[in-house]
Amino acid sequence: MARWNPFGSSDQKKNENTESPPPENQDANDSNDASSPPPTEKKKGLFGGIKRAMSKTMEVLNTDIRDLVKEDGRLVDDQFLDELFAHLVKTDMGNGPAAKIRDDIKSKYRARKMTLTQLIDSAKETISAIMQQENADINLASSGTTVIMVVGVNGAGKTTSIAKLVNLFKQQGKTVVLGAGDTFRAAAVEQLTIWADRMDAEIVTGRQGSDPASVAYKAVDAAIKAEADICIVDTAGRLQTQNNLMDELGRIRRVMQKVSPDAPHEVLLVLDATAGQNAISQAKGFGEAAGCTGIVLAKLDGSAKGGVAIPIRQEFGLPVKFVGLGETPDDFAPFDVGTYVDALFDAP
Ligand code: GDP
Ligand code: MG
Repeated sequence: MARWNPFGSSDQKKNENTESPPPENQDANDSNDASSPPPTEKKKGLFGGIKRAMSKTMEVLNTDIRDLVKEDGRLVDDQFLDELFAHLVKTDMGNGPAAKIRDDIKSKYRARKMTLTQLIDSAKETISAIMQQENADINLASSGTTVIMVVGVNGAGKTTSIAKLVNLFKQQGKTVVLGAGDTFRAAAVEQLTIWADRMDAEIVTGRQGSDPASVAYKAVDAAIKAEADICIVDTAGRLQTQNNLMDELGRIRRVMQKVSPDAPHEVLLVLDATAGQNAISQAKGFGEAAGCTGIVLAKLDGSAKGGVAIPIRQEFGLPVKFVGLGETPDDFAPFDVGTYVDALFDAP
């Protein structure tokens, strides 16, 4: 099994498997200490990064829409509405939201000419209404240590998202203890240990194959004893259809509650934005079974299908709390509906 090393090493193939390190890009190499990036990097990693990461989706959608509505506008007839719908669904926003954009435009502009600006404004309005969510902040414990459990299928981006969360909490001056609850593969523990060392977080590990609930218990216990602000527990990837493994998540929760009755305060479901419809069935399967309280939408970068956040918001009561925008700890942003909708529709 490939050894995993977030610093990157010249004798190692990149992206061999899901444990592979980030590419040797400027973000990974320019700043040796990820916990203290230069101020511009920090800013880019917040809201601004969403636009950069979604540029492919934005370019495709904008080219299509601009072709549809020329300079002097376009008559809103059935043919236009059908063409518009076809372009919108290409972003993976789903038939429902695409139909809603189409129908709103139909009722406002039917048999009249509409401009590109009017089209974009109307689409933004429709999508903002669909995606509205109350609270995207992490649910914090009312006092003491906040326990966050991270769940999802293999390779979704759980461990990387944990590193990103640690980075964020460290920037806020918070202390973090990690629980390496993916005891299924030795490489997973190693991966999290390297991040922990790099970002100066304490980590509790168990041997490969050991009981993940026991690691979770020890991690929460250690965090409380150390009066840490945050404890984040990683879990092994599993499919929402594997009932025994889904039940195991319940057991991990119950064991943590022996040390901290309100734990976990947050259960983050990590979804891979490039997984399309599959991400939606994962949200269905995990949502209730694992008691999820929020979504991290990883890998929003590099895909022309960035619209997938829309059906995820529309179909589930869960708020999208963060988005993953790349492989380094800074490639992470709190989710904001307004920024997302602008990133989707504004001209490049
Ligand atoms: P896990 O199995 O769910 O823990 O997934 P990992 O955290 O190990 O990530 C799997 C792969 O996805 C790794 O190669 C990560 O570098 C990559 N990855 C994770 N998050 C992102 C992201 O937001 N963007 C990109 N481009 N890659 C990501
Ligand atoms: Mg992992």
